[in-house]
Amino acid sequence: MQRIIIVSNRLPINISIFNGQINVEPSVGGLATGMSSVHKFYETVWIGWPGLDFDTLDFTLLDDINRKLEENNCIPVYLNENEMENYYFGFSNKTIWPLYHYFTQYVEYEDVFWHAYVDVNKRFAEKVLDFIKDDDIIWVHDYHLQLLPKMIKDARPDMLIGFFLHIPFPSFELFRSLPWRREIIEGMLGADLLGFHTYDYERHFISSVRRLLGYDINLNQISFENRIVKVDSFPMGIDYERYNKAATKLKDKHEKDKTQMAKEIESLIALIPDIKLILSIDRLDYTKGIANRLRAYEYFLEQFPQFHKKVTLIMLCVPSRSNVEQYQAMKSEVDELVGRINGKYASINWTPVLYFYRSLPFESLIELYTYSDIALITPIRDGMNLVAKEYLATRINGRGVLILSEMAGAAKEMGEAITINPNNYGEIADALNAAILMPDKEQEERIAVLQNRLSRYNIEKWTKDFLSSLTNTIVARNRYATKKLVADEELKMLNAYSKAKKRILFLDYDGTLVGFQKKPELASPDEELYQLLDQLAMKKDTEVVLISGRDKETFTEWFAKKNYSLITEHGVWIKEPRSDWDLVEKVNNEWKELIRPLIEFYVDRTPGSFVEEKNFSLVWHFRKCDPDLGNLRAIELKDELTSLIANRNIEILEGNKVIEIKNSGINKGRAASKKITGEDYDFILGIGDDWTDEYLFNELPGAAFTIKVGMVNTLARYNLESFNDVRKLLRKLTEIDV
Ligand code: UDP
Repeated sequence: MQRIIIVSNRLPINISIFNGQINVEPSVGGLATGMSSVHKFYETVWIGWPGLDFDTLDFTLLDDINRKLEENNCIPVYLNENEMENYYFGFSNKTIWPLYHYFTQYVEYEDVFWHAYVDVNKRFAEKVLDFIKDDDIIWVHDYHLQLLPKMIKDARPDMLIGFFLHIPFPSFELFRSLPWRREIIEGMLGADLLGFHTYDYERHFISSVRRLLGYDINLNQISFENRIVKVDSFPMGIDYERYNKAATKLKDKHEKDKTQMAKEIESLIALIPDIKLILSIDRLDYTKGIANRLRAYEYFLEQFPQFHKKVTLIMLCVPSRSNVEQYQAMKSEVDELVGRINGKYASINWTPVLYFYRSLPFESLIELYTYSDIALITPIRDGMNLVAKEYLATRINGRGVLILSEMAGAAKEMGEAITINPNNYGEIADALNAAILMPDKEQEERIAVLQNRLSRYNIEKWTKDFLSSLTNTIVARNRYATKKLVADEELKMLNAYSKAKKRILFLDYDGTLVGFQKKPELASPDEELYQLLDQLAMKKDTEVVLISGRDKETFTEWFAKKNYSLITEHGVWIKEPRSDWDLVEKVNNEWKELIRPLIEFYVDRTPGSFVEEKNFSLVWHFRKCDPDLGNLRAIELKDELTSLIANRNIEILEGNKVIEIKNSGINKGRAASKKITGEDYDFILGIGDDWTDEYLFNELPGAAFTIKVGMVNTLARYNLESFNDVRKLLRKLTEIDV
């Protein structure tokens, strides 16, 4: 059975050692449940930290611990105190966590944190690489291990790797402040599929990739070097059935079986029978907006005195990262606020805020959920927020109101909740008022829609969706892999070249023979390229044709004295060796007067863009622009041009970061076709990298060898990765004696 290797900071089991005894407790986290839903198709193995400090571990127990972990399909990565301090509490929770949650004031940039993060990611990578077999699927989780996908991919490019980020991915403006932003993005891009909770996080990531690395992005696919990485959003669901069933079971529970928590809540209800219970549950984390919530609740009590003695806020805060400074300060702030509100409003029978600072077992959690009339969830930022989903799953009588911060990822799927801005106390107070007064029927209608969605897109569906999307990336990978010019195919081509009596090579210039530069004039030919082309052109019965969108003046400057043919402006001009330029097509230029002002208008409004005027075309270049603005303006410009050129004999050509307007019917395919018509070439090679070269591939005869530079879809027979590979191939041709 195929294996899925889950890699996360923590293993899904807790190990504790008490009096020399090893206790193993599986934790029923969402992900573990999701994975168990695919156990029919896959075997799951988990790699992660087992929660023990390696420095203080009793080594005589190590074999036993490892055996117990293995019985639970877990492979440990042991961390010592220093690593935990710098990698976990440091880089993960003092750098990435606040940065990704927009708490820039708490972000710490420390080299020691970063180095520990790199080292621990390396340790994880070594463990994974030691352990994996060829057809395993690797699924890396969360912000602690962002470098891991690349580390694995570099060593094993054949492995299928998925990565899911469980927290937000911030906007580029924020992300760019991270000193190690490039390493992080490149680390993540080692995966074949990158998953985020929401489309916003996905587009923030894509925008960071575009701006930092300048890679080509087509919808949600990032292409670079020889790879395509897919980016998508998968809003994580919960084990809906588990929560729903637990709540149903609770309803039928006998009095004597009830927990202490249930009894406490029931005595509260007994004192004030029509009391509305408002619930909030979170880890005590500054992202959760707990202090805000208390202030907003205080404001609500001020504004709506009619609800005094009619509502109680039950607030469960789970201790978290309590050795990080901000968490300690927040604990004091929350304690003070609770004290202040209760001091101000409490009476003999009424406590406005019931505050618990502890974690609860599952049963008690379900009790809290089911007893509450309203869930008040107000994070300042939250990747998803599962508590909101769990609350909804427990509404077995179909009633209840969810007030949810619009800053939680979950809000994106929950249009029927009351959404609020967590910083707007007035809005929260009004939402509480509306929730308390909401008629049962309306509650039922909203809950029904929400439950329906949650039960459908549950944790199983989420897991399966991610995994099928990940395995589908192989299809895309294979498509290009089958077109890749592999050694066998290359040999065929070299043989055909060597046997042929009359050869012609059509070579595009930019992106094919040289790399792209920010300014086109910088991409002039280097000495190696001249030598290569000269050697090819010297061969007997071999014609070299440079076929380009460039203007004839530039090519005159670079190649006029050379022994190769030149076709410029996509097929307007042709120049044979030792002759003058000739027009391939009869064209006119009158339309330029009409189009030029529009393009100039776009140049003025788009910093970094410029217009290039060729003899028979106008080109708007936007390679140097902000990528998002450039792409946006390109769409606008195309739109305006389309209406302007209607009924005229001109067309718009989209190239690599350029929009070119030229006479229609002129293209590289037509020009190449004219060149070979009536001639008896028995070896034809066409190489190009962009959209305009597809005309060439289309027009050349079926027996021609056509090669697209870049691993993208094409009409060409083969793909090569880069212009360097083209040069290598041409070098091989020069070495053949003909
Ligand atoms: N939770 C728990 N014990 C508690 C309180 C909460 O196990 O005493 C669980 C809760 O059921 C939920 C998770 O903790 O599944 C919190 O997830 P959420 O996405 O809301 O926030 P996170 O802590 O991951 O930021």
